[in-house]
Amino acid sequence: MEEVSLVFLPTPGIGHLISTVELAKLLVKQKPFSITILMMRLPVRDTDAYIKSVSASGLNIRFVDLPLIQLSPSVESQGPPSVTPLFIESHKPLVNDVVAGILNSKKTRVAALIIDFFMTTMIDVATELGIPAYIYFTSGAASLALMLYLPTLHTQIPCEFHEYQGEVVIPGMRPLPPNVMPTPLMNKKTDGYAWFVHHGRRFLETQGIIINTFSELEPTPLKAMADGRCLPDHATPPIYPVGPLIALDENSQSKSSVLIEWLDQQPRTSVVFLCFGSRGAFSLPQVKEIALGLEKSGHRFLWSLRCPASENHSMPVDADLDHVLPDGFLDRTKGRGLVWPSWVSQMAILAHPAVGGFVSHCGWNSILESLWFGVPILAWPLYAEQKLNAFQLVKDYGLAVELRLDFDGDGWVSAEDLERGVRCLMDDCEEGMKVRKRAKEIGEASRSSVKDGGSSLASLERLTDLLTHGSTN
Ligand code: UDP
Repeated sequence: MEEVSLVFLPTPGIGHLISTVELAKLLVKQKPFSITILMMRLPVRDTDAYIKSVSASGLNIRFVDLPLIQLSPSVESQGPPSVTPLFIESHKPLVNDVVAGILNSKKTRVAALIIDFFMTTMIDVATELGIPAYIYFTSGAASLALMLYLPTLHTQIPCEFHEYQGEVVIPGMRPLPPNVMPTPLMNKKTDGYAWFVHHGRRFLETQGIIINTFSELEPTPLKAMADGRCLPDHATPPIYPVGPLIALDENSQSKSSVLIEWLDQQPRTSVVFLCFGSRGAFSLPQVKEIALGLEKSGHRFLWSLRCPASENHSMPVDADLDHVLPDGFLDRTKGRGLVWPSWVSQMAILAHPAVGGFVSHCGWNSILESLWFGVPILAWPLYAEQKLNAFQLVKDYGLAVELRLDFDGDGWVSAEDLERGVRCLMDDCEEGMKVRKRAKEIGEASRSSVKDGGSSLASLERLTDLLTHGSTN
């Protein structure tokens, strides 16, 4: 039988990479694909151990490192929103060479180049080599609907979103306050905004968009896209919701940590867990305010606390607890609270029956992970598309309690705000009970969606048939 190859091109950061690898795992478990993941090299990278563990897993997934590309100092000095697309662009010939090499080996048919949604420039490589291009969209359907509709919004709303007096109307979604737009869209004069509009336009040129969501979670934006309402003047590429794709295997490795042992001693659903993604870190005054809010709430808590990057690190660094926490806080909360000054195994914690609520920055992976385990969220969005995610969770899906969604201003959350939010999430108030019930229901729907007869499995089967035979059976 003919071997069918798939070539993936993720953005190299750990978040998108893990999500991409989960998609690759799902596909090879479904059909005997041969998968190659092309890795753009970054000067500093934190993915080596992870790549090693996937490579050793025995699945037919291999990683190919592209040579390190050094941009000129004048380009580097332009800052991330401009540099990232140019960095990606500069890899085109290298990607072309590797994929052409696979094609020329003649042992295999390359059925797809599956690219991260920031990589639309690579559609040109696929076209040149005569290979179908697919987007892998690692965030939710609301964000995808926004991106598809963005070229239309761009003409409808010429001013800056923060100056816009009306609501932003996107098909399939409740009208949005303009200030929940993703961070890169909030300043239209920047390259970041122009690139988002550009990517939105180029999505049309693909054979399909694979997305990490499930139809029970986001029915209306998915339907609006399927009905072609987000692309009034073009045919919408087929959309394949195959999620939730979360790294459940990784979760099983950390069962015996100190944190899990601590959770083992806490009553069922009594602990509120705080964790803010790969980049979430707060100023010193905000850290102290969080501490006071937790103390006042009277609830048990587990808090992963990292601090803003020092000069040599772009990512947050481990916290020095004696320095950042209020005097006496650890003594006063001893026994009912644990502050962990570092990265934690978030999935293993969310999976623990003692965890009853999650104060989250609403990164898409964190949302999917929390809901998988039926844990309700207190939404504290920080960056990227997290305000939009939080708005959807609170207002449309009833899966999160609002912390502060008046998104103007500096994002400061007072101890009283946090105390109120935590109490609502954990106590028997009407809103909290509703959100907890809904989170349980969607957790079950999330697990059913990937089983036999589930919506995401059906969507995956349509996709794999297409990749294997060139058409759906
Ligand atoms: N994560 C973790 N431990 C931490 C912080 C984050 O395991 O201390 C994981 C989390 O489980 C999720 C990912 O990192 O899988 C964060 O992805 P998300 O999309 O939520 O947010 P981002 O980091 O992209 O802002």
